[in-house]
Amino acid sequence: MITTTTTPPPAATPPPPAVVRLREVTKEYAGGVRALDGIDLHVGRGQLLGIVGPSGSGKSTLLHVVGTLDRPTTGTVEIAGHDVAALADREVSALRARHIGFVFQAFHLVPGIGALENVAEGLLYSGLPRALRRRMAADALTRVGLADRMKHRPHELSGGQKQRVAIARAVVGDPDLLLADEPTGALDSKSGQAVMDLLHELNAQGTTIAVITHDTQIAERLPRQVRIRDGRIAADTATGKAAA
Ligand code: ADP
Repeated sequence: MITTTTTPPPAATPPPPAVVRLREVTKEYAGGVRALDGIDLHVGRGQLLGIVGPSGSGKSTLLHVVGTLDRPTTGTVEIAGHDVAALADREVSALRARHIGFVFQAFHLVPGIGALENVAEGLLYSGLPRALRRRMAADALTRVGLADRMKHRPHELSGGQKQRVAIARAVVGDPDLLLADEPTGALDSKSGQAVMDLLHELNAQGTTIAVITHDTQIAERLPRQVRIRDGRIAADTATGKAAA
């Protein structure tokens, strides 16, 4: 007797939503300056990209819109599948705290408290108990190579170490997206390179990272480069779209 076995088809699991999806985004400031002029941008999970362009091209504005710190004038912004326009300001703050980590050129560490406390600040709105926040902060500092600097206060750390603390604070909650705004801008070239190496390592471990930079040498070492000019995407190595 012949029996046939039929394997049921695997349950269709939808692909995870893009980390960032911008559609036809514009941003106009008072006075009629159009800082973003029709941006379509899709960042998939696990990517490492540079957003590159000269001063005044719209990079900071784009960072603010992608980071949900500012709303676009027109167009849609989705972060980890959430349409930002559909959310109240309070909900946008919660979305930002849960999904996005920020690193800035000037570090923005809290003076007078140690590295561990600074990193634990990144979990302040997580609702996690203090002891767990501190344990996670210690793990994050170990990941960035500062296990031996937990108690050092910002003024006792070098520039490169301060930026490592800031990166640990940004990733301690395992965000969907790390946004780094000119992360090497205040560092000498050796510490800057070490910080970029660290971002590459974190990306290899799964973190999605966008680095905003005017430094073409930094951008050239990133697997994807999005070039901004006059508020538009002039080139994107992921889509193969080239400058006109
Ligand atoms: P980048 O970060 O590439 O230097 P920005 O996003 O800061 O560029 O600026 C893009 C354009 O928008 C520039 O022409 C700038 O002068 C203008 N701009 C930026 N912020 C404001 C603002 N708050 N009000 C008015 N114009 C602004």
